[in-house]
Amino acid sequence: MERLKKLKPIIYFHLVLNATIVLFITGASYYHVPLEGFKDHAIYFLHLCALQGTVAGFLYFLSLFKWPFRILFSILFLAYCGFSFWAYSQDISITPSLIQGVLETKPDIAVDLVTIPYFMFYLAAVTALVFLLKWHSRLPKRRGLKVFVAPALALIIMFYVLERRQFGFFKFRLPYNVAVAVEEYFEKAPLELNLDPKGVVSRSDSIKAVFVLGETLRADHLGLNGYSRNTTPLLSERNDVISYSKLFTSKTITATSVPQMLTDQKLEDSNRPFTSVYSVANTAGFKTTWIGNQTMEKSYLPIAETNGEVMLVDKYRSVFSFDKELDGVMLKPMDSILKTSGKQLITLHMIGSHWWYENRYEDQHRVFTPVIDSKYIPSLTRDQLVNSYDNTIIYLDEFLNDIITRLEKEETPSFMIYASDHGELLGEGGKWLHAQEDDALKNPGYILWFSESFRINYPFKVKALEELSDEPTTMDVLYPTLLDLLDIEIQ
Ligand SMILES: [Zn+2]
Repeated sequence: MERLKKLKPIIYFHLVLNATIVLFITGASYYHVPLEGFKDHAIYFLHLCALQGTVAGFLYFLSLFKWPFRILFSILFLAYCGFSFWAYSQDISITPSLIQGVLETKPDIAVDLVTIPYFMFYLAAVTALVFLLKWHSRLPKRRGLKVFVAPALALIIMFYVLERRQFGFFKFRLPYNVAVAVEEYFEKAPLELNLDPKGVVSRSDSIKAVFVLGETLRADHLGLNGYSRNTTPLLSERNDVISYSKLFTSKTITATSVPQMLTDQKLEDSNRPFTSVYSVANTAGFKTTWIGNQTMEKSYLPIAETNGEVMLVDKYRSVFSFDKELDGVMLKPMDSILKTSGKQLITLHMIGSHWWYENRYEDQHRVFTPVIDSKYIPSLTRDQLVNSYDNTIIYLDEFLNDIITRLEKEETPSFMIYASDHGELLGEGGKWLHAQEDDALKNPGYILWFSESFRINYPFKVKALEELSDEPTTMDVLYPTLLDLLDIEIQ
């Protein structure tokens, strides 16, 4: 009893220290997660406890040293509050592009970010920090070491064990996601590109092309392809849309599939310098523009950067945010580029039908109900998941139709190609989402549209693509098809 009494101050200090960190930092990673019902909240609460437990393990060892704790903890705590404030208030995601924003933004621009709530948050954080540091300096030095070392070590080991069992178990949340993003920011891109394509011959001087790089769309959930629900009311109404029902890919995650789609890489190829479709289009005199509603991943960032211009509409919110902009936001910058003259290749990189589905469409697209109401998948029904997923396609239908309506007004021959990077598991084999191995992921949506003047100028190109729409084919067709439609030849 006497011994426990002596350990009490240390236990209290660490409880308050960790509670403060939950309040100011780690809690921000859970604040926006949509949850429904007691069970879902309990599961995420346990996750938060486990995550904070691992942080507590690391902190215990730091707290054993007076000056390292004072200095290092102060720096980290205040720096992390800079991230967590935006995670709390704006649901931003900690990604390499955010780190880039932090490290490369000029101080005068950064000053604009300081608002009254931001200032108040920091004032509270500094007060808490001063309180904790004072308390720490009063603690008996290294008392209880024998009792606490083993549990603290066990908590640290728990981090590595659980992270090994499931990648991203802790790493995608504060505080660990900052370390991951910093590491990725400084890491060199693994991709080798041939930036100077030879023998490029351009035959046209007036084509406007929009390439829509889709996300997570299964071909078999398109009304256009005979799905039992009419998920494509607007596109189905038109008679000028070509949709492929049997196009296959072997790539089931964005990081491997997007580089393959945007370069001359074949599905079976690896390890050689690849040529970006944009490098070829640039050489052929096209103005190339990348408009993205996804934060860039290092897997395809160097390819996207071969565009003449790159703009991201919602730079600081990735798929880990629940308050992301809708893809329609990309139409405005697209409009202003379409207004300019000359040959154009505009790419729109969608967030598409990526999980969390309810953040991918507006209320008027909620055709199928009931929809998902919790991020905890086991507590949802199959109907809820499929309904929400199908509603994202109702949104896609309107989005693509909006693009087509704009291109219809162009006098120059124009076309739109939509290709999704992979599909999605909707309960097949009891599994959901993607990044796994299953046929449901390997048949992405692929949709083409051509303007009247394009059809008049290139009747054979259009006819050939129409004839292929029901034939089995692979994503290898995308690169040569894009170049052929841009009327570019490589000799
Ligand atoms: Zn993807």
